[in-house]
Amino acid sequence: MIANARVRQIAGRLVDQRSHRVVFLSHCLLNANTRYLGGAACGGANRELVQQCLDANIGIVQLPCPEEGAWGGVLKRRMLAVYGRPAFEALVPVAEAYTRRVYRRLARKVVAQLADCLASGIEVIAIVGIDGSPSCGARVTIDLGGAARAMAATQVDSLTTARQNEIVREHARPGRGLFIDELERAMRRRGVRVPVLAHDLFAELDGKPSTLRLC
Ligand code: SF4
Repeated sequence: MIANARVRQIAGRLVDQRSHRVVFLSHCLLNANTRYLGGAACGGANRELVQQCLDANIGIVQLPCPEEGAWGGVLKRRMLAVYGRPAFEALVPVAEAYTRRVYRRLARKVVAQLADCLASGIEVIAIVGIDGSPSCGARVTIDLGGAARAMAATQVDSLTTARQNEIVREHARPGRGLFIDELERAMRRRGVRVPVLAHDLFAELDGKPSTLRLC
């Protein structure tokens, strides 16, 4: 491993245009294709947040989509299996425990990346979660058990985008999503402090532009 003093000496000679500022954005803010089916209100990336980063020369680090990792890929196939199947409701505690285990591993990797940024003299402006997500909510999460019950009671034939989003809104409650919770714990354990902000999923679903200000 190269000594810190030598790293600083080399970095001092190789000055360039980098801003030394980054933001960690939830995956779906840059790639709406990982949202739950029915939950993407834009085609690709969130225009307002990306524009702010471009205007202020803030580098963007894309967080992993935790549900993609734990719930069966981009389409979250394990979640889709719940529709119209009341028997799945009983599995919610097991599914939640499994999800936490996967998220804990992911959170450790993200916090190692955060710590490396900070140790490299890069300011991490914030982590941006998604309020209204059971995984990435920072202040608003979803009651997973209640949402699973509602999904299990909804037959596939009667399923619509509007009904899916009703289920999400009906089960919103104050609190952190499971992934943000694991991230906060991992940051505490490692002594890393970065503000956690949130984009509002429900405002986005209502067609409103993001009002979150990064700087
Ligand atoms: S809110 Fe989190 S879990 Fe949900 S799609 Fe976005 S990144 Fe994935």
